[in-house]
Amino acid sequence: MLYLRRARVPVSVLPAGFPAAADPLEPAVLCDLTIARDAIATVTPAGADKAPGGSGTRIVDAGGALVFPAFIDAHTHLDKAHTWFRAPNRTNTFFDALDTLWRDKENWTAADLHRRAGFALRCAWAHGTRLIRTHVDTAFPGAETSHAVMAELRAEWRGRIELQTVPLCGDEHFPTSEGRRVADLALRYGANALGGFLQMSPGLPRRIEALLTLARERGVGIDLHVDENGRAESECLRLVAEAVLRTQFPHPVVCGHCCSLAVQPPDRQRATIALVKEAGIGVISLPLCNLYLQDRRGEFPVSPHWRGLTLVRDLLSAGVPVACASDNVRDAFCRYGDLDMAEVYSQSVRLAHLEADLGASVGTVTRLAANIVGRPELGRIAPGGPARFVIFTARSFSELLSRPAASRQCIDGENVHSPAPPDFAELGEPVP
Ligand SMILES: [Zn+2]
Repeated sequence: MLYLRRARVPVSVLPAGFPAAADPLEPAVLCDLTIARDAIATVTPAGADKAPGGSGTRIVDAGGALVFPAFIDAHTHLDKAHTWFRAPNRTNTFFDALDTLWRDKENWTAADLHRRAGFALRCAWAHGTRLIRTHVDTAFPGAETSHAVMAELRAEWRGRIELQTVPLCGDEHFPTSEGRRVADLALRYGANALGGFLQMSPGLPRRIEALLTLARERGVGIDLHVDENGRAESECLRLVAEAVLRTQFPHPVVCGHCCSLAVQPPDRQRATIALVKEAGIGVISLPLCNLYLQDRRGEFPVSPHWRGLTLVRDLLSAGVPVACASDNVRDAFCRYGDLDMAEVYSQSVRLAHLEADLGASVGTVTRLAANIVGRPELGRIAPGGPARFVIFTARSFSELLSRPAASRQCIDGENVHSPAPPDFAELGEPVP
């Protein structure tokens, strides 16, 4: 048994009815937790109960440090991670990223994929992430190798990180035999949902319906890339919501990016958010990648004007579950990144002004993200739930967000430890 004293836990991840924080600007409260093997046994306000005795109980004093549930990274691309050194994006634009990584696929052997994705998982583990959903490019001849490697990594990491997969292909494939092949290949290797990259076209509603049919026949949900641009006329999110409502699709639906929603007229935004809410769609924002890729300008002024993010605050206020996640890491879509959800969290708070409701903000990398990936028992600190936490050096949100790169510890079951991310040198990249 592990007894964790004086852990400062965000109220939004505690069971309903837990006493509220005194200061709304610091929505976390001091708690005492008991952990038996892998599960949380009790969570009580600090000092409310006597510390359990007995020789089998280890007492750890968190000293008022902020403690989050382990992170959920709801949207990544582990098949592309750490390819920048050999496949850099010379223009840093979205379509060059697509071309560059398409050409790099000839390097995607099982050994190459395992090395890069395995490295990414070790980084995520060290930073306190315990569930990762990765999209996997699937409409190309080598896709079976990618899925087989992800299935292998899923088995290797079982009990530490839960690895979920979603196939990725263009929407033109959905109504074709290739669409069925992609779906069946991915599911054969344990995919958690079907997916795809949507682009506006007159035929898009029909293509979305074809994907919903594929998913319905196979009894799974969908997780899409939509509207990753700043063009107001890009309304894939709206078309997905309408198709879900029209067909009464019964499984979970997730839309990633949804950036163009932010540049539409307010009436249109309100109407689309209402449709998204009614359709029960979860939204995943990928702030670091959006910031990197969007608003790249070829002529004066070359400086970016907008942040590229969807309407995170407005979606949350409307009751739409929103997660913030890593997306691409060290590849042609995003040159930087370390699968560090504390970085994603702190940057998301800054970029999307989430300090307006810090309690809700924690959910975007824990509770809400867990709901979106279909694991609602994760991302919380509640009796019966898994004992997976991140203990920050910070004692408040102010300290955490001021020094987000400060060291942190992890708790996995009764084990309190400080895993370190692997050295970049292990990737064997040539250093100029
Ligand atoms: Zn993505």
